This record gives sequence, structure tokens and C-alpha cells, in this order.
Amino acid sequence: MEQYKLLTPGPLTTTNTVKEEMLFDRCTWDQDYKDITQKILMQLLQLAKASPEDYTTVLMQGSGTFTVESVMTTAMNNQDKALIITNGTYGERIVKMADYIGLHYKHYDVAYNAYPDELELKYILENDAAITHVVMVHCETTTGILNPLERVSRLAKAYQKTLIVDAMSSFGGIEMDIPALGIDFLISSANKCIQGVPGFGFVIAKLDKLQACEGNANSLSLDLYDQWKEMNKDGKWRYTSPTHVVAAFSKAIDELMAEGGIPARFQRYQRNNQLLREGLEQLGFQPYIPGERQSPIITTFLFPNDTFEFADFYHYVKERGFVLYPGKLTEINTFRVGNIGEVYEEDIKRLCNVIQQYMGAVVK
Ligand SMILES: *Cc1c(COP(=O)(O)O)cnc(C)c1O
Repeated sequence: MEQYKLLTPGPLTTTNTVKEEMLFDRCTWDQDYKDITQKILMQLLQLAKASPEDYTTVLMQGSGTFTVESVMTTAMNNQDKALIITNGTYGERIVKMADYIGLHYKHYDVAYNAYPDELELKYILENDAAITHVVMVHCETTTGILNPLERVSRLAKAYQKTLIVDAMSSFGGIEMDIPALGIDFLISSANKCIQGVPGFGFVIAKLDKLQACEGNANSLSLDLYDQWKEMNKDGKWRYTSPTHVVAAFSKAIDELMAEGGIPARFQRYQRNNQLLREGLEQLGFQPYIPGERQSPIITTFLFPNDTFEFADFYHYVKERGFVLYPGKLTEINTFRVGNIGEVYEEDIKRLCNVIQQYMGAVVK
């Protein structure tokens, strides 16, 4: 099969050295494997700039959504009420989870290309004393908008609410000082900016907040508290863990550190994203999210004209080495291009050349 690069929000293109870690079969209760898990727990805290006195890390089997759901079912009980802020489908998925779990919540919904309004948020928090938790997605992968985390975290702190952040597609690619932001539960997964393969997610949690969550979960396998109790002892996972994925992830973190940590990865992603936006704009593609709200992760572009066919475009570009992503907006025709993973300036330049050829070929 032809190799191509994934220009998607994850799973994404990983290094051969990360993939090679999966050629070895490991035993879940052996010390070597538990050491790998413990090293990951420690490194994730470092990446979050958090100390083990105040914060802890828990890994959870499944895709990222499983981990988000484990936080929602564990961090809240039926006395609590969440303010769920959404401007995309990943936020809406959290609302759906809240319905499944039976949580009390207020849904504050804004347009997919807009930021939540600070005054409106203030008004809600001021007038609804029942709210105990604030929940938001950091980078809404639906569109690529980067939400104003500092603003929302300031409000959550001012009103003393527990802050839950889905940073699935940003953690590892954008610097975040989790203690300074006052984030109580930050969620991400193996196959996004840390550049591992899919199979588990992780939570960086404020220790005292997590310790208070015993008995909240209404799901056994998604009980984050119970998972933490077990894993925190000696690095042993509760139930079978994705051993190959965990080993690959450990390698991926080492490679992130070797690249220069999150600041260096951010620079690479940011540069990729600038080149991508500039290159495609020159070819007649308008980005959906204005520059100042654009994340360095993934970009949504409008179709350039009425005759543009995404399926045709997709196959043309795929045959020449890149896999793109369909759009996720209902009212406008769009597609998305991710720029995370093993993707460099020269890849973006090559992609722009391929798209230029395509546009030349179809416009005729
Ligand atoms: C990828 C992603 C998720 C999780 O999606 P899965 O398909 O379950 O891994 C959740 N939130 C955001 C913002 C994401 O980008």
C-alpha cells in the first residue's frame, strides 16, 4: 500500500520509532510494564507544569470520548450542576453524555465561529447559584477554533467552580500551565498532540477534587476514582490495558521531550498552520475561523466555488500522499486540514503544490 501522511486531527501520522515499540508483547502485571505506566504518569504531570502534591494523573482505556465520559460521571453527582459551554460538536457530545448520565446542567451554546461572551457567562454564574462545575472544550476540533481558556478559567476561579476542560486536541501542542489556570480536570488522549497511537485517554486532576469523588460514578468501567485508586498504588491498570499502545505512548512522550518539549512542538505546529492558511488562501480557499481565533491544530476551509467536489479533490490529494478530513458543519460546505503529527513545513509546501495542480486541472 502507498504510504500517505494524515492531515487529520488524530489518529495522525506517527514516527516509525513509536510504531516499533508495538512489536514487543508486554505483560500487564510485570514490573517493566508498570514502570512504563508510572513514568508516563510522572511525565504528563511535568508537561502540565503540575506538582504531585496538588495534582495526579489517571489513564483510561478507550478513545478520548470514554475518558471525557469517565470525568463527567465521576466528577459530578446528583447534587451538582454543570455549566456546559459549547461552540462545536465535541462540546455537544458532552451535553449528550450529561443526558445519558442524568446530570443537572445548563447548556450555554454559541455559534461555531464565535467565542462565549464573558458578560453572559458572568450573568449565568451570578444568577444560578446551583452551578458547581464549568465545562468547556479548549480547541474545538469541529472547526479548529481555539477557545479563550484563560478568560473562562478566570471566571470559574472567581466564582469558585470546578473547571473541567476537554483539551483533547490541544494538550501537548499548546503550552498550558494547569495549576495557574486552575483547571481541576483536564482531559486528553494518546493519539493527538503527543503523537501516540489510539487506545487510551488521560486525565490530569486536582488531587483534592478527585479524592472527593468516591462513589459518584454510575458506571463501573468508567469510574475514574476507582481507576485512580488502583493505578496510583504501583502503576497497575484496573482491567486489561492496551499494552502496545501504552509502550508506544511512552516513546512518543520521550520524542516530544527530545523535540524540545511543548514550546518546540507548538512552534512547529504554528508554522505548519500559518503556511497552510497562507498557501490555501492564495489558491482561493477561505478559512472559516478568523485568524485571531484559529488554533495551530486544524483548519476548516470553505469550498472555493459551487462546482467543487470534495470526494474528487480528496482522492486526487490522497493519490499524491495526503489524507484530508471532511467538514463537520451542516449549513456550509467545508473540509478540514490538520497539521499535527509527523508533519513538517516541507509537507505543507508539497500539499499546497498538489492543491495548486488540482485547481489548475479542474478549472481549465
Ligand atoms: C478527538 C477529540 C475527542 C475524542 O474523540 P474520540 O474519537 O473519542 O477519540 C474529544 N474532544 C475533542 C475536542 C477531540 O478533538
